[in-house]
Amino acid sequence: MMLNFVNVILPIPLERSFTYAISDEEALVLQPGMRVAVPFGKSKIYTAIIYSVHQNPPEAYEAKEIHEILDDYPIVTPVQLKHWEWIASYYMCTLGEVVRSALPGAFLLESETLILRNTAYEIDENELLDDEFLVFEALQHQSILKVQEVSAIIERKNVLPILQRLLDKNVIVLKEEVYEQYKPKLVRYVKLGAEHTSDQKLEELLNSLTRAPKQSQVVLSLFQLQGKRQKPIKVSELEKASNSSKAVIKSLVDKGILEEYFIKTDRVNYEGENDNSESKDLNEYQEAALADIKSSFEEGKVTLLKGVTSSGKTEVYVKLIEECLEKGLQALYLLPEIALTTQLISRLQEYFGEKIAIYHSKYNVQERVEVWQNVLQSKPKAQLVIGARSAMYLPFGKLGLIIVDEEHESSFKQFDPAPRYHARDAAIVLGHFHKANILLGSATPSVESYYNTQTGKYGYAEITRRYGNVLMPDMELVDIKKAQRKRKMKGHFSERLFLEMEETLKERSQIILFQNRRGFAPLMECLTCGHSPQCPNCDVSLTYHQYRNQLRCHYCGHHTALPEACFACGSPELDTKGFGTEQIEKEVKELFPEAKVGRMDLDTTRGKHGYEKIINAFEQQELDILVGTQMLTKGLDFRNVNLVGVMNADSLLNFPDYRAHEKTYQLLTQVSGRAGRTKKRGKVLIQTYNPYHQILKQVTTGDYVNMYKEQLYEREQFKYPPVNRIIKVTFKHKNYNVLNEAADWFTSALRTNFGGTVLGPEYPPVARIRNQYLKHIVVKVQKANSLVQTKTNIRRIEKSFKSVAMYRSVRVIYNVDHI
Ligand code: ADP
Ligand code: ZN
Ligand code: ZN
Repeated sequence: MMLNFVNVILPIPLERSFTYAISDEEALVLQPGMRVAVPFGKSKIYTAIIYSVHQNPPEAYEAKEIHEILDDYPIVTPVQLKHWEWIASYYMCTLGEVVRSALPGAFLLESETLILRNTAYEIDENELLDDEFLVFEALQHQSILKVQEVSAIIERKNVLPILQRLLDKNVIVLKEEVYEQYKPKLVRYVKLGAEHTSDQKLEELLNSLTRAPKQSQVVLSLFQLQGKRQKPIKVSELEKASNSSKAVIKSLVDKGILEEYFIKTDRVNYEGENDNSESKDLNEYQEAALADIKSSFEEGKVTLLKGVTSSGKTEVYVKLIEECLEKGLQALYLLPEIALTTQLISRLQEYFGEKIAIYHSKYNVQERVEVWQNVLQSKPKAQLVIGARSAMYLPFGKLGLIIVDEEHESSFKQFDPAPRYHARDAAIVLGHFHKANILLGSATPSVESYYNTQTGKYGYAEITRRYGNVLMPDMELVDIKKAQRKRKMKGHFSERLFLEMEETLKERSQIILFQNRRGFAPLMECLTCGHSPQCPNCDVSLTYHQYRNQLRCHYCGHHTALPEACFACGSPELDTKGFGTEQIEKEVKELFPEAKVGRMDLDTTRGKHGYEKIINAFEQQELDILVGTQMLTKGLDFRNVNLVGVMNADSLLNFPDYRAHEKTYQLLTQVSGRAGRTKKRGKVLIQTYNPYHQILKQVTTGDYVNMYKEQLYEREQFKYPPVNRIIKVTFKHKNYNVLNEAADWFTSALRTNFGGTVLGPEYPPVARIRNQYLKHIVVKVQKANSLVQTKTNIRRIEKSFKSVAMYRSVRVIYNVDHI
C-alpha cells in the first residue's frame, strides 16, 4: 500500500519543510498552495501551506497526521511559491519567514494567537453554530482567549476552522489586529414593516403609538429620512436622527413594525461616482516618453522613466495601465507607504473606478483577506492593485504590468523582520516570472537603476519639463554660518527665509518647511556639567518632546517626564541642542502669529487616517504653513505652495552612510518639487552651513547626471553597489563581551574566505538598542565573484559558528543589498 504525504511550509524561521501524513481521500483533494492545520512540537498547532503532495515517507522521523484541511482551493499560486523561494534564497532567510510576511495574518491562525471579541459588530446569536456560540459566550466573560482555552471550551483539539468561521462572521478579532476604525462588512438597515406602508396604515400606527413617544419618534424619523425615494436607512442613521437608542428600535423590530435587513458592503469598495473618465491627452514630451517605454518593453526590458517633479509621470502610467487592463491582464502599482495617499488614489480612481484594489499595512486583516481573494480570483474589482511593498505578495494570476513609482525610495527595502527584501527588486523578479512589463519611475532615480540604464540592462525614457510649461522652482542656498555671524537669524530662520515667508503669506500662498527630525530637540544638555540624559535601554540620547514635556527614545519608545534638574550634577540649568519639527512649529507660530501652522511627522500622523487629515487640511488651505519631516516629500500635489524652506541641509549630508549624498540629492529635489506646481514659479530656500557643498550645488542646478557620475566613481573606488554587491551581517546579543568575541570569530572566518572584502566588525552609530548590543560586518562581493557562492560560504561559516556553545545565543542577521 502507498502512503500519502504532504510537505508543508510552517510560518516559522526553520530551514526545512516538514512532512505530514495524509489519507488517500485527502491526497485526492490536497494541492500545493492550500492550507492545512498541523500539530507541531508538544502542543502547538500551526497553519501551514502545502508545498507538495507525494508518497515518500520522511527518513528521520515518523510523520504526524495533519489536523484539518483549511481550504477548498489553493490560496497561494505556483508562481508565488516559486517567487517566495527566490526571496528566501536571495535574501538569506527561510521560506517560513517569507510566508509569514506574505500572507495576511488572518490566513495564519495558530495556537498562540490571542482572540478578542469584535465589539464593533453586533452579533445575531441565532446565526452561530453551537460551537461558535460557546466561544462567543466565553468572550462575554473574558476579554481575551488563547487558542488552548478555546480548545478546552469546545472540547476539541483543532479549533482553527472554527476560529476562521468566527473571523468570517465578524464575531472575533485577533489581538495584533485591533484597529481603531473598523468598518463592518454587513450594514444593518431598517424599513417600515410591509403591512404599515400605506398612508392609512401609517396613520393608524402612529395613533397606536401615542403612548410610546419614543417609538413614535423613531417611526416619524424613519419616514422623514426615507423621503420619497425610499432610500435604504441604516440603523445607526435612524438612531441618530430620532435621538433614540438601539433598544427602542429593537423593540419596534420585535413588534414587527420595523423590518431589519442587511446589505453587504465591501470594505474596500470605491464609493465615488465619477469613475471611468477619459484619460488625459499627453503632451509631446509625455508622448515621446511613452513611445520610448513601449519600444523598450518590446525588447523585454525593465524600463526606467526619469521625469522631473510634476512632469506628468502619473498620466503616462495611466496610459500603460489602460492598455494592460484592456488586454485583460492585471496591473500592480507599487508605491512607498508614505506616498500612498488619498490624493493619488482618488486621481487613479477617476480613471479606473472600482477596478482598483488597495493594499497596505494600515488595512486590517479582513480587508487584506478580501483583496487577496479578489486578486486570486481575478475579480473585476482587483484589476489594478495599488499598494506598498507587501502588495507584490498578492496571488496574481495574469500580471501584465508592474509600475514601481518613486523607485529610489529606501522604504521599499524592508528592514525588519526577515525577509529583508527590496520590493522593487523582488517585484522585478516577479514580473519576469509573469513575463510582465516593468516600469520604474522617479524624478531622482537610484544610482543603481540609472547605472542599469547606462550598461544597457534597462531601457530608459525621460521627461525633462514640467507639465504645462511650469518652470522648475527657483532654488537658492542660504549660508546660515554667515547669517549667524551677522546676527541675522530669528531662531532657526535666516532673515532671507523669514522675509520670503512673509512675502508668500502676503500673497496668500502656502509654505512647506522641511526638517528631517521630529520632536523638539534631539538633545537635552546640562549647562553645568555637559551631561545629557540617555536612554536606559539604548546607547542614544533622549529626544526632547516639548508638547508632552517628555524625553523620548526614538529607538525603543522609552520615555520619562522632563527632569527639573540634571541627573548627574543636580544643576537646574538645562538647555536643548539641535532642533526638530516641533521646535520649528513653535518658532513659526511666534514669528507669524496670524498664520495657521500644521505639522506632519510620525508623531502627528499615527492612526489609519493620520496623514490624510493633515494633507486634506493643507490641500483645503485650512493651513498656511506645513512643517514636516521627509513624509511630506513624497508625491504630494499641492496646488498653492509657492515656497519650500529646508531648515538645515547639513544633517542629511553628514549621515554616516555611503548613500548619504545620493539620498540628500533625492530628498532635497523631491521636497523642492512640492513648490510652484502651477503657473507661478515656485521658490526653494535651502539653509546650510556649507553652501559650497558639491551635492547642494547639484541639487540647485538639477544636475542629476553629474551627481550620478561622482557617486558612481566613489562607489567604484570603495567597492560599493551598484558595481559590487554588499551583504551586511549584524550580530546581536545582550552581553557585550560575548557579542565582541562572536563578531571577531565570524569576521576572521570570513576573512580567511574572502580576504580584503570584509569590513568590520564595527559598532553602528547606536550600538545598543533595547538592551541588545549590535555589531556589523559588511561583505563586499565583486561582480566577478558569484553572489550565490558567497552566500553558501557565509552559511557554512554560520554553521560552524553556531556549533560553538557560547555563540549559539548570538543572533546573526543577514541583510542582502543593505541600503
Ligand atoms: P509627476 O507624477 O511627474 O510629479 P503629475 O503626474 O502629478 O506629475 O502631474 C503634475 C500635474 O500636471 C498634475 O496636476 C496633472 O494632473 C497635470 N498633468 C500632467 N499631465 C497632464 C496632461 N497630459 N493633461 C492635463 N494635465 C496633466
Ligand atoms: Zn549636570
Ligand atoms: Zn531606547
